[in-house]
Amino acid sequence: MDYQEKYQAVIGLEIHAQLATKSKLFSGDSTAFGNTPNTQVSPISLAFPGSLPKLNKEAVEMAVKMGLACNCTIAEESFFARKNYFYPDLPKGYQISQHTHPICIGGKVLIKTSEGQRNVQLNRIHLEEDAGKSIHDILASHSCIDLNRAGTPLIEIVTEPDLYSAEEAWQYVTEIRKLVRWIGVCDGNMEEGSLRCDANISVKLKGAEQLGTKVEVKNLNSIRNIKKAIEFEITRIIQELEAGNKIVQETRSYDADKDITFSMREKEEANDYRYFPDPDLPPIILTKEKILSIKNSLPLFPNEWFEIFQNKYQLNEYDATQLCEEKSIAEFFEVTALYCQQYKMIANWILGPVKQLVNEQQKSINELGLSAKSLADTIQLIESGKINFSAAASKLLPALLNNEKDPVELATTLNILQTSDSGELEEWVNKAIEMMPDKVQAYQKGKKGLIGLFVGEVKKMSKGKADPKIVTELLEQKLNA
Ligand code: ADP
Ligand code: MG
Repeated sequence: MDYQEKYQAVIGLEIHAQLATKSKLFSGDSTAFGNTPNTQVSPISLAFPGSLPKLNKEAVEMAVKMGLACNCTIAEESFFARKNYFYPDLPKGYQISQHTHPICIGGKVLIKTSEGQRNVQLNRIHLEEDAGKSIHDILASHSCIDLNRAGTPLIEIVTEPDLYSAEEAWQYVTEIRKLVRWIGVCDGNMEEGSLRCDANISVKLKGAEQLGTKVEVKNLNSIRNIKKAIEFEITRIIQELEAGNKIVQETRSYDADKDITFSMREKEEANDYRYFPDPDLPPIILTKEKILSIKNSLPLFPNEWFEIFQNKYQLNEYDATQLCEEKSIAEFFEVTALYCQQYKMIANWILGPVKQLVNEQQKSINELGLSAKSLADTIQLIESGKINFSAAASKLLPALLNNEKDPVELATTLNILQTSDSGELEEWVNKAIEMMPDKVQAYQKGKKGLIGLFVGEVKKMSKGKADPKIVTELLEQKLNA
């Protein structure tokens, strides 16, 4: 039985993104990652009697930015609610979140899959604070609590049940991570927990209107795990249905080592959060002017850059897509293009040798110490035949890093400038011809491919400095004479 034909998986994702503010959502405590436990915890984070929360303006602006990036409606009035539950890592006994009136409503995110592109519908984006962290593997006898993270600002990005495969979910999370980084509201680092995802999964008969009972999988800390957990869960639910079993609404966890999910709790045990508006916090009021000014502060989005790369710079879809992966790369291209009009060459360089350096050094393109002007000059050196690509990529490019010197000057010092001095070239060409009389004969009898052999020989003699274009011409003249 082909289950693909019979069933349709439906997925809704809830992504928590830690906002890149310096301080917490309602206090001046630092949000820095990895410091000594419990050193970033003020009475406000602990909700000591008499302490009052004060809203972090920057967090609000970041939430609005993400809302605008996702085409949400920005609420001119929203407010916080207390979500009450008991857990050791929640010092207040409640989490400040948004419930009935989130800051961003609706919205959509464009994803590209193997089947084309499509908008994924969002339900909302709301602001909330993070809880602390329980650590169970330090002491054998006790659990430890680190409250440094308690009160850190998060946005929760909630989709409608509008994803239909593990691949789509993967693409969606990839897109969200790219977007938050692009507009600078979150570092997108999943290992450090800056971006966390819960997946809600259900399966229905194909064509059925009503959605199946959903299962929620928590603790997904990498995009790969999100995909694998969803794949596992879809198969598991289908097997249950095929066996005639009823799906129970439950929360499950994913074990990456075993690649399985397991049940944590069923719905009957679920919390009643007793939400109510937080009496200590006034509503968030955003005027139209304020929303517009935040909108105007946003950079061009990846899809806008994509258009620019295709239309203004005439790049193909692959190059345009790759250049839009990171804002710093797109911007570096644009600056380089001010100095050099060989756009395809710029794309090749940025996506080739430069990207390789970025990966090797684990830095962003701006931290490499490479100036856009040097890159443009290098490309022009290649175009004018003064240096060949491989010497430029392997020798000149690394030498350009953190170096004020002009590429021509550096290439001279490195002794990699190509010679187009005809006297010198002719000497090498003659030598190569003399060295291989049998190959000359073979060439003249029609084995034209042997030209490469001669060119290679000249390259060797010149230690890579001979301009291959001119050498080939010279060789052809002589061999065909
Ligand atoms: P809950 O009240 O259990 O938190 P919500 O209605 O808030 O449920 O939805 C939480 C997430 O689950 C959303 O992303 C939503 O799209 C998704 N979701 C809801 N119902 C389903 C379903 N039947 N199948 C898949 N995802 C669902
Ligand atoms: Mg929910």
